[in-house]
Amino acid sequence: MEQDTQNPEITVLYQNPFSPVKEISLYIHIPFCTKKCNYCNFYSISYDAKLAQNYIRSLTKEISQYKNKHYTLASIYIGGGTPSLLSFSLLFSLFYAINDTFTISQKSEVTIEVNPASITRDRAQNWKTLGINRVSIGVQSFDDNVLKILGRFHSSKDIKTTVELVKTHCTENISLDLMYGIPGQTLETWMNSLQRAVDLKPKHISSYCLSLERGTPLFDSRNKYSFPPEKLQKDMYYSMLEFLESNDFLQYEISNFSHEGYESRHNISYWKGNEYIGCGASAHSFYNMTRRENISDVERYIINIQNKQSVYGNSKVIPGREYISDMIFLGLRMTKGVSLHYLKSEFGFDILAEYSDTINKFSKLGYLTVEKDHLKLAKKALFVSDEILSEFV
Ligand code: SF4
Repeated sequence: MEQDTQNPEITVLYQNPFSPVKEISLYIHIPFCTKKCNYCNFYSISYDAKLAQNYIRSLTKEISQYKNKHYTLASIYIGGGTPSLLSFSLLFSLFYAINDTFTISQKSEVTIEVNPASITRDRAQNWKTLGINRVSIGVQSFDDNVLKILGRFHSSKDIKTTVELVKTHCTENISLDLMYGIPGQTLETWMNSLQRAVDLKPKHISSYCLSLERGTPLFDSRNKYSFPPEKLQKDMYYSMLEFLESNDFLQYEISNFSHEGYESRHNISYWKGNEYIGCGASAHSFYNMTRRENISDVERYIINIQNKQSVYGNSKVIPGREYISDMIFLGLRMTKGVSLHYLKSEFGFDILAEYSDTINKFSKLGYLTVEKDHLKLAKKALFVSDEILSEFV
């Protein structure tokens, strides 16, 4: 697999899923973590070396089911969980299966998610050897008190060491994940975290507001904490936009920012409604107009693969009209918005006519605009986007 670590070309084309062209993205889920974070409701379990070995063996079998289907990968995303916990030999087996099954585009973006404190020089070098050309680091905050509340495994000091190791031994194409709206966070401490993130010179920053999810330790102990009120969360969001813009980060999606040419190709592909294959426990796929969700249980996943049984928990054929709604819902997340011409020419769908009431309502409020060929969210709508986007479903 060829690497392209410097300024990978990021043009991501829309791909009509009805067409036989099969350039596709691949997501691989590694559901192991050192310890569960207090806010996390993703599917992940404690790392166990033997279980991880059996899991990767099963994963390679699931991947190889796509052999001879002639898919070309535009991007590969190894997410989790904490994929950076995997040994070189396990990652090697995984990449061997991927290379053996798919054609990998020369410009393919290959990302691994990494948690600080789970990286060594050898691991970073190994990732480079495997063709990984983008590293996404789960930083969340540079405030040690906030990291403690989140139940993160690392300290703010570990973040700097991690970034340096990745830059020196793997790639400069680094994304940092940050979080705001956390108990104990003030506007000042949030801006301080952003400054420290920018000081590390990443190419990309993703930033999400903490979502308090039922069933998590943080939810159960919520009465112990004082959460930033919505007005403060909003200030945090818009202060971030201003700060990142003044540091040459272009906002290309509600929660994603990058230097020019370093947008996440993999995520843009989702937002454009393109097809993707997800492998591993709890991974999602969308191809051949069908959404599939793998079972969220590592042991059952392994047993099903061993017994040559399906690993799908759910699957649903998506009617064309629903696909178009999904495309609009996802596409509006991008600052560029949704192309009116593309929907009309590819699907004969006139969005301005079909959604005239919704578009008029939000346009009058200054939340939606049509600029040139694109329907897009106005800046003031970005913080309340969920409410607006839900009207397009
Ligand atoms: S590292 Fe990520 S996936 Fe693992 S528990 Fe924490 S938030 Fe969840």
